Amino acid sequence: MSAIRDSLIQLITETSTNLPPDVRRAIKRAQLQEEVGTRAALALNTIIDNIVSAEEDVQPICQDTGMPTFIVHTPVGYNQLELEKEIRQAVVEATRLGKLRPNSVDPLTGKNSGDNLGPGTPVVHFHQWERDDVEIKLILKGGGCENKNIQYALPTDLPGLGRAGRDLDGIRKCILHAVYQAQGQGCSAGFIGVGIGGDRTSGYELAKEQLFRPLEDTNPNPVLAELEEYILKTANQLDIGTMGFGGKVTLLGCKIGVMNRIPASFYVSVAYNCWAFRRLGIVVDAKTGEIKEWLYRDRPEAMERPQGGFDLKNAVVLRAPISEEQIRSLKVGDVVLIEGEIHTGRDEIHKYLMKHDAPVDLQGGIIYHCGPVMLKDEQGNWQVKAAGPTTSSREEPYQADIIEKFGIRAVIGKGGMGPKTLAGLQKSGAVYLNAIGGAAQYYARCIKKVNGVDLLEQFGIPEAMWHLEVEAFPAIVTMDAHGNSLHKDVADHSLVKLEDLKEPVFA
Ligand code: SF4
Repeated sequence: MSAIRDSLIQLITETSTNLPPDVRRAIKRAQLQEEVGTRAALALNTIIDNIVSAEEDVQPICQDTGMPTFIVHTPVGYNQLELEKEIRQAVVEATRLGKLRPNSVDPLTGKNSGDNLGPGTPVVHFHQWERDDVEIKLILKGGGCENKNIQYALPTDLPGLGRAGRDLDGIRKCILHAVYQAQGQGCSAGFIGVGIGGDRTSGYELAKEQLFRPLEDTNPNPVLAELEEYILKTANQLDIGTMGFGGKVTLLGCKIGVMNRIPASFYVSVAYNCWAFRRLGIVVDAKTGEIKEWLYRDRPEAMERPQGGFDLKNAVVLRAPISEEQIRSLKVGDVVLIEGEIHTGRDEIHKYLMKHDAPVDLQGGIIYHCGPVMLKDEQGNWQVKAAGPTTSSREEPYQADIIEKFGIRAVIGKGGMGPKTLAGLQKSGAVYLNAIGGAAQYYARCIKKVNGVDLLEQFGIPEAMWHLEVEAFPAIVTMDAHGNSLHKDVADHSLVKLEDLKEPVFA
């Protein structure tokens, strides 16, 4: 294998499995701010436990390794075509090793390429520079947070904040609204990159570029430096908290860039990144292809496995088939421990189940919104490499019908679901269980056996229905069978807090 390919595989592996020091420091600061015993503290402890496990076992921090996006700077005259080939081969190899989930899907056929290659994937941006070395930066930004990106065309009217005009205060309102609308669905506490100006495309690119800035830098533009500081402080008054459970810390970082616009357009583009903020970089010798330096790692930050995760003293054990009576006895805030068999099901499975029978009996069963990273061992048996929850709100159009049709009693996911599902839970006698988003190693540890898989050929690894045997799999009831939803409560409360911020600050 060429030295450059080896360097690229190291970059991908480290980015997927070893969270950068500046991100770790931000998460540790958040942990110190949340009161011991709260749901937010519990979620942060689980997240830190997961970060430690991922590093120790060299496994993906989160099962969703996103759209691999490389930003490359090369010296004048360097062969970029050859480097792109090496990047593509390194991506294939990292996928084969289970460091990346196969994530490249044809939107027309639904076919997963299986190796992360396809039109548009991976994303590689090349630039030339006057230096002699090659610099390669990589971000793995998962779909849950990518779906919470948002773009505003000013002027506009925003819920809670009123008119956002074409000025600095209008920009302020858009950024605060961007944090509010993400709630916990992008696995808060999160980071945002903001692009002011440009057109629809370059504005989003500028926003994403901000995510490559070190978290502890200071914006050279004093106006933007002040705005970044204001947003970081103020967004944390929204009380959305980690996973949208409520709490003091909602935003962990804010970086803002600006570029010129044309007179008719005024865009504010926001790229939202979850706590699993996986971006790293390497400087490579242009002649040998060997790594000379790692970026973002100038001040290492060790993490220790925390004490005090889920409070299991009063945890309710759920084992399928679950009775309606047991489900109706649960209420929002209860901690449950799941034992026995659960079945993964996400976008393709929900769409499929609307028109077809289930491949297994789901009566009294538990569906897990999850697209795991799976590898076969030498004996040909499937092994779970990463298996945290995916964003549940995507299944909102289907979930209530699926619960009723198949007699499902519990749905595990993250970020919560909407009013249709809440009504469905009440009608059919079912609950929504929030697992900690991104805690893919933590939950992989709870999976003791793969009992089987259905629809693998049709939908690919992330979207297939995996039948998993779990032990002591913890989650929190956040939507119960009595019409209560923690997600609705937190969203309503944060809207009130947002309204408090409508008066101009940057006049
Ligand atoms: S931490 Fe959450 S939002 Fe981020 S990649 Fe994982 S599942 Fe997606």
